[in-house]
Amino acid sequence: MSRSIRAFIDLAALEHNLTVVRRYAAHTRIMAVIKADAYGHGLLHTAKALRKADGFAMLELDAAIRLRDAGYQQSILLLEGFFSVSELAQCKKYRLSAVIHNHEQLAMLSASKHGRLDVFLKINTGMNRLGFAPEQFLSVLGALKANPAIGHITLMTHFSSASDTDGDQEVIKQLQCFNSMTTSHSYPRSLANSAAVIRYPETHADWVRPGIMLYGASPLTNKTAAELNLHPAMTVTSKIIALQYLQSGNKVGYSGCFQADRPMLIGIVAGGYADGYPRHAPTGTPVLVNNQRTRILGRVSMDMLTVDLSGIKDAELNSPVILWGKGMPIDEVANAANTISYELLCALTPRVTKTAQ
Ligand code: PLP
Repeated sequence: MSRSIRAFIDLAALEHNLTVVRRYAAHTRIMAVIKADAYGHGLLHTAKALRKADGFAMLELDAAIRLRDAGYQQSILLLEGFFSVSELAQCKKYRLSAVIHNHEQLAMLSASKHGRLDVFLKINTGMNRLGFAPEQFLSVLGALKANPAIGHITLMTHFSSASDTDGDQEVIKQLQCFNSMTTSHSYPRSLANSAAVIRYPETHADWVRPGIMLYGASPLTNKTAAELNLHPAMTVTSKIIALQYLQSGNKVGYSGCFQADRPMLIGIVAGGYADGYPRHAPTGTPVLVNNQRTRILGRVSMDMLTVDLSGIKDAELNSPVILWGKGMPIDEVANAANTISYELLCALTPRVTKTAQ
């Protein structure tokens, strides 16, 4: 069965967004973050569109190997490094760089003196997710330096609050902590995600690691993607597959969450939570029908959602729908659904066909 819901990946938009990163960080190398199947966009065509990046960062070892096998010569960084001796051996074999963030990895490294591995030593400056505590930094660095199998060392950290409008203090605290440990060393350094690329030039250092802005969504809560000159890379389209005329008082969908207060025309759209559209998107979440803005009504179900066609010109069976992307900023949909663009992009399920163009 061919379903009407589709995702179109705009390769020119990805390329454009990379040039936007370059403008912000003209003197810094760019590590394009393409984990989670390039934030749901599809790994290989995304990498091709972003081929001018100086490196790629991801999480999944098998995807990193696919990328290397596809011929990319840039640095490919595994953001969680390796979790076993055999993964370490694969990293060396495929010249993948690894984030080193715990003592188990150090133990595996010291037992494996053959081959060569470039590493990013991760310091926990306040995110409290991955990384060594500042007090451990010097001894870990010493262990890496003493290991003949370690090639280039880069020092890194990750910000917890760079995208928050009130995040300045936390970013500055993390930056100061990182700088106090690292500036006396000559190793390259990497700190900035998309939000920091835009808001905190003082964090650019030697490598920036943008993700979300490459996909054309805004990393900032107070600026839209359009204001940042970012182009949406993914557009999710569908169609009206049924029409219903409601009388005043009629309810829509499971649990009758929406009740009409007047006669109205509604459209049923192919697209539900089994496609990755968020079930918790409430009545009012924006959507385009025939390129006109309207809202979803009632509860999103597994395969369908319902839209208000009041005042929509020429609304009929098969009218085109845009759930997010060109003309319907994903950040607006995410805000309405109380989530973030990242989650929407990554949540599309395999039954949504993706076409890169
Ligand atoms: N660096 C690290 C370590 C990350 O985990 C991520 C994403 O979560 C990024 C960079 C990219 O972040 P963003 O997509 O906000 O630019």
